[in-house]
Amino acid sequence: MISPSSFIITLLFSMIFTSFHVGRAQEIDILLRGGHVIDAKNHIDAKMDVAIADGKILEVAPNISAENAKQVVNATGLYVSPGLIDPHTHVFVGSNSGFADGFSSVSPDDITLKAGITTVVDAGTSGWRNFPVFKKNVIDRSKTRVLSFLNIAGSGMTGFPSEEDINDMDARMTALVIEQYPDIIVGVKIGHYRGDDWTPFDRALEAGRIADVPLFVECHLPLLPMEGILERLRPGDIYSHSFCKASDRACLLDDDLKIRPNVLEAKEKGVRFDVGHGGAMFHFDIAVPAMEQGLFPDSFGSDLHRFSMNAGMKNMLNIMSKYLNLGMALEDVIFRGTWSTAQSIQRNDLGHLSEGAVADIVVLNVRTGNFGFIDARGNKIAGDRKLEAELTLREGKVVWDLNGLTAKEWTKK
Ligand SMILES: [Zn+2]
Repeated sequence: MISPSSFIITLLFSMIFTSFHVGRAQEIDILLRGGHVIDAKNHIDAKMDVAIADGKILEVAPNISAENAKQVVNATGLYVSPGLIDPHTHVFVGSNSGFADGFSSVSPDDITLKAGITTVVDAGTSGWRNFPVFKKNVIDRSKTRVLSFLNIAGSGMTGFPSEEDINDMDARMTALVIEQYPDIIVGVKIGHYRGDDWTPFDRALEAGRIADVPLFVECHLPLLPMEGILERLRPGDIYSHSFCKASDRACLLDDDLKIRPNVLEAKEKGVRFDVGHGGAMFHFDIAVPAMEQGLFPDSFGSDLHRFSMNAGMKNMLNIMSKYLNLGMALEDVIFRGTWSTAQSIQRNDLGHLSEGAVADIVVLNVRTGNFGFIDARGNKIAGDRKLEAELTLREGKVVWDLNGLTAKEWTKK
């Protein structure tokens, strides 16, 4: 039986807690009102308000009171999604030629925020030797959250011959640096190797095993047979450049455009398939029959770099628009661009709007009209819907506002 004194103490505690809770609930920095929220992790696909405080999601619910909100944003007619995640980019920009610390990479903030992308993963542009330079020059200075797959090649994407030097593919050093930056480095990458020796691949897998992270395969491995690659991949490993026909790998579909049995087996065991569009690696000829047979991308990696961003690819949001016009439902497109990708990179803290999650958000407009979408072979499809980022928030701060949704009305004095 509860004593009177402990009852009073319990009552006092609950009063303090209640007033603290109410006080906290009243401090809303931004209230997004009337938008249609799509949050796959939390099974929300409905008109909801989203309250943001201290850079985090405070509440997602219908009709949240605006009484104590510092700023109210009218999102009526728009879609509210977790910030998009692009798992395949090259953003180790610098002044060298090529990709690593080079001019072929791009600065993430130049492209991402205006397309609703709040997180990118750099796909092995750096390796263990130059990751600290990448962190200092790009990761620490970008508004976009920049994560990384660390290349098994010690200096990342330096081109031939240094990038393909087996002597500089060190599983232990790669794993050591991954373990040093657990909040930033989400996996290992293997990319370019033109030999027929499995050593580079096996070392990349070994680094992944030691650091307990997935392997990201950007498959420019012309002499390593597809069967062997898919056989070696573990559940959770990621295969990019999935929907193309290219000279440096076998296609996931056979000559009759049927999904190869070993691809289905890989899918079954939990290998993740990424788009990896790039300048040359996404073809409607492959993507459409793959979709018709049920092989969908787990993520819409753009393979962003200087040569893809002004071609058919443009940005990850444009890839999402392609899939929307190919018949994928909007909520499915958003799922694959957010929560599904977060699962691929094993970052369950991202890609959803749960209470307490970081307030990385995009408010999307689905424009209607006549649009054209180009693949990496110069083929075009017509479409009647196009996704556009109206507003992007990163940790609760406005980092992109296309039409001034959050700005004050100007009037002539
Ligand atoms: Zn790439």
